[in-house]
Amino acid sequence: MAQQNKGKKKGNKPRVKVIRINLAWLYIPFILLIVGMLYSNKGVPAQKIEWAQVQEIVRSGDVKEIHFVRNDFEGTVTIRPDSLGKYAEMFGGQVPSKSPHFTFMVSTKFDAEKEFGLLNEALPEESRAKIVMENDSKLWSGILEWMLFPILLILMWVLMFRGIGKNMGGGPGGGGGINPFNAGKSTGKLADKKNIKVTFKDVAGQHGAKEEVMEIVDFLRNPDKYTKLGARIPRGALLVGPPGTGKTLLAKAVAGEADVPFFSISGSDFVEMFVGVGASRVRDLFAQAKEKGKALIFIDEIDAVGRARGRNAGFSGNDERENTLNQLLAEMDGFDSNSGIIVLAATNRVDILDKALMRAGRFDRQIYVGLPELEERKEIFQVHLKGISLGEDFDMDTIAKHTAGFSGADIANACNEAALAAARHNHVKVLNSDFIEAIDRIVAGIERKDYILSAEEKRSIAHHEAGHAVTSWLLPHGHALLKVTLIPRGNALGAAWYLPDERKLMFKSELMDQMCSLIGGRVAEEMINGEPSTGAQNDLERLTKLAYGMVQTYGMSNTIGNLSYYDSTGDRAYDFNRPYSEKTAEAMDAEVKTLVAQIHDKTLKILTDNKEGFLKVAQLLLEKETIFAEDVEKILGPKVKPSTQSSPEVAEAPEEDKESDNSNE
Ligand code: ADP
Ligand code: MG
Ligand code: ZN
Repeated sequence: MAQQNKGKKKGNKPRVKVIRINLAWLYIPFILLIVGMLYSNKGVPAQKIEWAQVQEIVRSGDVKEIHFVRNDFEGTVTIRPDSLGKYAEMFGGQVPSKSPHFTFMVSTKFDAEKEFGLLNEALPEESRAKIVMENDSKLWSGILEWMLFPILLILMWVLMFRGIGKNMGGGPGGGGGINPFNAGKSTGKLADKKNIKVTFKDVAGQHGAKEEVMEIVDFLRNPDKYTKLGARIPRGALLVGPPGTGKTLLAKAVAGEADVPFFSISGSDFVEMFVGVGASRVRDLFAQAKEKGKALIFIDEIDAVGRARGRNAGFSGNDERENTLNQLLAEMDGFDSNSGIIVLAATNRVDILDKALMRAGRFDRQIYVGLPELEERKEIFQVHLKGISLGEDFDMDTIAKHTAGFSGADIANACNEAALAAARHNHVKVLNSDFIEAIDRIVAGIERKDYILSAEEKRSIAHHEAGHAVTSWLLPHGHALLKVTLIPRGNALGAAWYLPDERKLMFKSELMDQMCSLIGGRVAEEMINGEPSTGAQNDLERLTKLAYGMVQTYGMSNTIGNLSYYDSTGDRAYDFNRPYSEKTAEAMDAEVKTLVAQIHDKTLKILTDNKEGFLKVAQLLLEKETIFAEDVEKILGPKVKPSTQSSPEVAEAPEEDKESDNSNE
């Protein structure tokens, strides 16, 4: 909260009170007004009569009051209540309940004083009419009455749309509320330099992406440098990558550092309840940018509009989104490539984007913002550790190793969780153990103190986890063990934690060894309990995926051969018609079964051959709940390493989708 002590003595509490008005309260006066108007119009309306009739009624002594407005040459007559009955037939048989009862008009030459004077003089004192005259015109109140309804309608409309805008979330660019009068206007925001505090320094790691983005900024700053050589300046760049890797952050940094106007909008801002609004917002956004001459437009989460057209047409028929996308495509074609407008967009679903968006001349470039590697994770930690008071035992290397597969956002979260954990334990500084706790919690979920396990369950889980740990310990390509624990977290009743080496390339022998350690839990259960339990579900799920992956995706099966039925283009061409015959499908299933059986037998042999050690590990686990690699080493000897001869040289060919696994369970 802002501290506002200006002009007050030091130490005073801030005096600014925030009064929040719930907009709903504004409806109440309107409703009252409308009800009032309806109510006041109830009953028989005043009748129009001639001046001659007025004279007649006054002479009969029935008039209580005459109200006359000089400037308007208009007056009203109120009858004495006891005489009202006489005039019922003039009101269609009803007795009017509301005064005045008659209205009349006179000519501009009417001399009010004289005429009313004459009328009253002829009457006895008690039956004279009270005459009220005024100069004020009723013009204004008339106009007001006329305008009231339209004004009310408009106000209610505006309020209604505000309400809707709020409910729909608005999005970062939306800022709450749609004004119905400019629903078609872009909600893109021109970034204000002063408000953006993010610089390229705040984006740690991501060196490649940073460089490419900086180059784009340079295109805008010094276009001549490129156009002189005949180069065409790219119109757009697409930031793609998993969520939380810093795409939006990178764009914010561009806004903070580029000396050009920066418009930012979220893809969902184009998607609106009104037909045609999305398209006109796109048009408006580009028009605004063109006005500035040089500009950067950033469209976050572009998949909201950029989804491939025509897919699922039969189900959704979302023409509105297609119109918006078409307009976007047209706009990106529309500006001359050297006009100084560059469009940046971000998405984590590049696979569903319309191919037309990504063709050269629109988003010419794709900038990949991937999950950070070990060194990058250290840099990101540095950024987020700034405000945290660290204990002396903090060990960056371990922590960075523990966070394989974490995105930048996860790391930011881990730092915060660590600080919270430290506070929970009343530590003066944030200790290494607080970080470990935070990371465990992020990976596997919160510790389940409420899970109460029977001794038998505990025994089974201990052997299951020991099975994993021992198998991977004894296999040359099993992951390095970090710890094994019986503490339930999230859905898992126990977990074996590994430090996966972050590799881009996996050999068949390595995959096989990892499958063995996955099935190790199940095999251990069979050995100890004589029957399987549900505890291995997650292991088996991953095992199945890996096995089918080996057969169908990586071409690692001799029977099927070097074929890959994985479709990385995102066209989903194989969704409805498989490119292989029923026979091949059967062969693949059989191959997977053989593979898993092979792995099962191998694992069973390992655990039986080392039964003594395996049982000791399980026993120690039951005693201590959490054991570490050192404890396992004491029982089984040093971890079996790949022999140098058979160890394949690791080539550095990069592959995009690395399997990030911070294995647990
Ligand atoms: P997305 O890629 O999904 O747009 P964001 O840019 O919104 O991810 O990142 C979310 C948060 O994660 C950022 O606000 C920042 O705190 C943190 N973060 C992500 N990547 C990085 C990074 N490379 N360096 C520093 N912080 C990062
Ligand atoms: Mg984002
Ligand atoms: Zn398991």
